[in-house]
Amino acid sequence: YNVPKAFNEPVKTYAPGTKERELTLNSFKEQYNSQVDIPLYIGGEEIRTGNTKDLFPPFDHKHKLGVYHQADKALVEKAVSTALEAKKKWAAMPWEHRASIFLKAAELLAGPYRAKINAATMIAQAKTLHQAEIDSACEFIDFLRFNVEYMTQIYSEQPTSTDGVWNRLEHRPLEGFVYAITPFNFTAIAGNLPTSVAMMGNVVVWKPSATQIYSARVIVEVLKEAGLPDGVINVVYGNSAMITDTLLASPDFAGIHFTGSTGVFNSMWAKIGQNINNYKTYPRIVGETGGKDFVVAHPSACPKEVAVALTRGAFEYQGQKCSAASRAYVPASMWNQVKDYMAADLATIKMGTPEDPTNFVSSVISEGSFDKLAKAIDEANAASDAEVVLGGKYDKSVGYFIEPTVILTSNPKYDTMQTELFGPVLTIYVYEDTKWEETLKLVDETSAYALTGAIFAKCRYAVVEATKALENAAGNFYINDKPTGAVVGQQPFGGARASGTNDKAGSILNLLRWVSPRTIKETF
Ligand code: GLU
Repeated sequence: YNVPKAFNEPVKTYAPGTKERELTLNSFKEQYNSQVDIPLYIGGEEIRTGNTKDLFPPFDHKHKLGVYHQADKALVEKAVSTALEAKKKWAAMPWEHRASIFLKAAELLAGPYRAKINAATMIAQAKTLHQAEIDSACEFIDFLRFNVEYMTQIYSEQPTSTDGVWNRLEHRPLEGFVYAITPFNFTAIAGNLPTSVAMMGNVVVWKPSATQIYSARVIVEVLKEAGLPDGVINVVYGNSAMITDTLLASPDFAGIHFTGSTGVFNSMWAKIGQNINNYKTYPRIVGETGGKDFVVAHPSACPKEVAVALTRGAFEYQGQKCSAASRAYVPASMWNQVKDYMAADLATIKMGTPEDPTNFVSSVISEGSFDKLAKAIDEANAASDAEVVLGGKYDKSVGYFIEPTVILTSNPKYDTMQTELFGPVLTIYVYEDTKWEETLKLVDETSAYALTGAIFAKCRYAVVEATKALENAAGNFYINDKPTGAVVGQQPFGGARASGTNDKAGSILNLLRWVSPRTIKETF
C-alpha cells in the first residue's frame, strides 16, 4: 500500500521573533484569560451535567480556568452503549478510510492546532514551551503517522496459500469496547491511547486524567474536525473508581489501554480477574506504569556527559516522566566533578511560569505531588544516611514549585533509591570504583520497576557487561545518553516488571493487541 510514508514531525525552535513563538504565546494568553466549560463527549454530543469541578493551573492555583462536567453511572453506561452502536459502521469502514481520518488529525495538529494544543498543555500541565512542543504536538503527530504505517503493515500481512487453497487473515477489531485511561504528563500519550485502539476498528470509552482534561478538550476538537465519526471515541470524566467499576463490569469490556500508576493498574487487573467469567471475550490488558529509572556511570565515562544527562534526564518537565532519571550510581573518583558540573548547570536553570520561555522548569502537577516530594526532601534532611546536596527548596504559596533537588545517600537501598516520586528529586549513590560488577548486580536487584535506564562508559567491556547484567532492568536501555525522550518510530517505548506489559507504545506490537484475527481457509 502506498500510504504516505511516516516521518517525525520536525521540532520547531520557538526562538525569539519566530511566528510559532508568537502564535503559541498568544494562544496561551487567550486561553488563560477565558473560562472553559468542558462537557462530556458521548456519541458526538456535548453533555453538561451541571455536576462540575473547577480547573486551576498548577503554577498558579488561585487562577480559575473554568469547569468540567462529571458523569454519573448512567452516563458511563450510555458511553458504552453508544460506542457499541457506533461500532457497527466503524468496524465495517474500509481501513484506508479510517487511516485517512488519523492522517488528517496529524496534519491539523502540525498546522492549525499546534499552538492551541501546546498552549493548553503548558497551562494545564505546567509544561514549558519546548517540552510541550516535543511531548504534545510532535509526539502525538508522530504516533498518528507511524501507527497508520504499522496498521498498513498489519492489514497487508497474509499467510501463504497453496494450490487450490486460499488462506487469509482477517484482522478484526476486538469484540466489545476498549477503555482508555490516560495520564497527565504527556498530551501525546493521552492522544495515542484512544486513537491507536480506534484506528484498528475498535470503539473506545476514554477517561483522561483530571489534571489533563483541559488539554484533552483540544484532542476532542481535532478528532472531530478530522472527521472521526460520532461514538467511536467517547470521553467521560468524574469519579474514577465509579467509572472504572462500571466499565469493567460490562460484559462487552474487551480491553484496557492504560498509562498511569502501578497501583491503579494492579487494582484494575484484579477487578478484571474477578469479573472474568462475565466477559464475552478475554480482555486485552495493556499498561505502561511506573518507573524508578537509573543512570549508572562507569569510571571510564565522561563526568560532564554524566552530569548533563542527569540534569536533563532528571529535571526536564520537573521529572514527571515515567522515564525520568531518578536514581544514579556514580563512581567515587568522579563524584566531585559530576557534582560541580551539575551545580553549575542547575545554577543556570530558571524556574517559573511556563509562559516565560526562558524558564527551564515549572511547578509540579498537584498539591498531592508537591506534599509527597516536600516530605521526601524533609526526610533526607533529617536522615543519617542521606543529605540534600543541591536544591531542596519548595514553596506552594502561588504554585506547586519544587526546586530541582539532588539527594546523596550512603545507603543504596535508601527509600528514594527505590520508591518512585515522580518529580524533580534525584537520588545519587556513590560507589567504590573497584565495585563495578557488584554495583551492576545491586542495580538489577533493586529494580522492581524496569522502564528505562542508562549507562555511561567509554570502555566497551563495561558497556557489554552492563548491557548483559541489566538486561531485565529496563525496557528502554540507553548507552551514553539520558534515559528520557524516546522518539516514536525510533525507540519503541515500554518496560516490564512493575513498569507494565511492555507492549511498546508507537510500535506494531502495540497495534497488534487491538485486533483479534480470524484465519480463513477456503478450498476450491
Ligand atoms: N516516552 C517518554 C520518554 O521517553 C516517557 C513516557 C512516559 O512518561 O510515560 O521520555
